[in-house]
Amino acid sequence: KTNHMFDAIRNAVPAPDAVFIETADGRLWTYGDLLEWSGRLANTLVAAGVEPGDRVAVQVEKSPEALMLYLACLRAGAVYLPLNTAYTLAELDYFVGDAEPRLVVVSPRAAEGISEIASKYGAHVETLDAAGGGSLLARAAEADSAFEDVGRDPDDLAAILYTSGTTGRSKGAMLTHDNLLSNALTLKDYWRFTPADRLIHALPIFHTHGLFVASNVILMAGGSMFFLPKFDPDQVLALMPRATAMMGVPTFYVRLLQYEGLNRDVAAGMRLFISGSAPLLAETHRAFRERTGHAILERYGMTETNMNTSNPYEGERIAGTVGFPLPDVELRVVDPETGTPLPDEETGMIEVRGPNVFKGYWRMPEKTKAEFRGGFFITGDLGKIDARGYVHIVGRGKDLVISGGYNIYPKEVESEIDQLPGVVESAVIGVSHPDFGEGVTAVVVREPGSDIDEQAILDALKDRLARYKQPKRIIFVDDLPRNTMGKVQKNLLRDAYADLYS
Ligand code: ATP
Ligand code: MG
Repeated sequence: KTNHMFDAIRNAVPAPDAVFIETADGRLWTYGDLLEWSGRLANTLVAAGVEPGDRVAVQVEKSPEALMLYLACLRAGAVYLPLNTAYTLAELDYFVGDAEPRLVVVSPRAAEGISEIASKYGAHVETLDAAGGGSLLARAAEADSAFEDVGRDPDDLAAILYTSGTTGRSKGAMLTHDNLLSNALTLKDYWRFTPADRLIHALPIFHTHGLFVASNVILMAGGSMFFLPKFDPDQVLALMPRATAMMGVPTFYVRLLQYEGLNRDVAAGMRLFISGSAPLLAETHRAFRERTGHAILERYGMTETNMNTSNPYEGERIAGTVGFPLPDVELRVVDPETGTPLPDEETGMIEVRGPNVFKGYWRMPEKTKAEFRGGFFITGDLGKIDARGYVHIVGRGKDLVISGGYNIYPKEVESEIDQLPGVVESAVIGVSHPDFGEGVTAVVVREPGSDIDEQAILDALKDRLARYKQPKRIIFVDDLPRNTMGKVQKNLLRDAYADLYS
């Protein structure tokens, strides 16, 4: 009997006493502890009636124990279903109703509210807090540490991850054992992770970035991680001299740059800084390199596909690009309407195919069918491949602005605005307009003390952008709205300014 993903994890264990996790408060988890506790928890799952294929929904604070629960699900053949800690009870009702888990694991303080929801859908409830307290670990402590892993094929489900909900209601992406394993092995090699690596892990573990990209790569390498409850720049800088790598969303890098402690010395022992989940500004890339000597490596992926592209480990990491398709990923840019592949440098829909691509949306066969074309998954992201083979993301199809019959890619306008002195960043959106269909509208964040105004920006863009691309209005805000993964929520901006031209 083989268990596709967990056998690989087992085989990658460097030594039982090698450190896997060090927490902020100095708790250590070795690989031996990993095998022991994932075994105890797997036995606990089985005792709670979890059978192979059953979903285990988990909405808990980040902790090593929560990660052990993910591993226990792999071993027990269950489907791990992590949920954003920010979801409200009403949202949970939707997710639990949609996924019909056998077991729901929640923070003790949320147990009361969720019990009602769980019993409505026939799920059993256990609790787990950030310090490893709660009913689940109490049971696991009594359970046997030996567990015979349930057989799982490459195509069996390992997890359902809900997408970030940036463009609408989150969708449950069904990920198989091989989706996870193939991508983890590819990334480990591409980014050269080894047992000597110590990764700064300050990402949430309910999202693909922190759960799969970071944790699975470390597991495949037999490395270790500093497992931090959240991103705290002081804490990250304090740990950096002992670390070798960090994975973060662009906001991490923007915030680190605000700290004097970020310099060449503190980053001298680091070999790699990786960014993803949202576009990294070229300005951030440049400033980070100046301060630390490190070129941030940007990569591109999504919940449905794991990682698709990456800037090279050796070779030039080009700001504003997401690098090359990974070795086992096919990526094409096509005409969004016809699906005809486009030549280099032309912008169109990005589609991907490979062992990384998910099995479909949970209980949405029609939507799944609609999002595939000729075996390729239609990502919804617009982009191009340049003459050197680097992939550029120009934004989401849903964010494309159509004004006076012309297509305007927001990123092109944003890049021009972001370059202006006194501008921190911008978001360009389409707002309903009586004459043009949509009016190009720029929402801009100024540097503190800057007095650049609407007219100055419009004047500066006059010679730089074709007339139809020039914003009709510039709006100033203190901050762009972002979700927990640092993604700009353009839908909120579109709602906020919906009546601007009416
Ligand atoms: P939803 O699908 O629910 O609207 P979402 O697409 O934001 O939410 P995720 O799967 O977390 O949910 O995010 C994937 C998306 O993030 C990609 O489709 C892409 O738009 C964006 N993304 C990820 N990495 C990058 C990157 N390096 N540069 C630009 N965009 C990126
Ligand atoms: Mg998406």
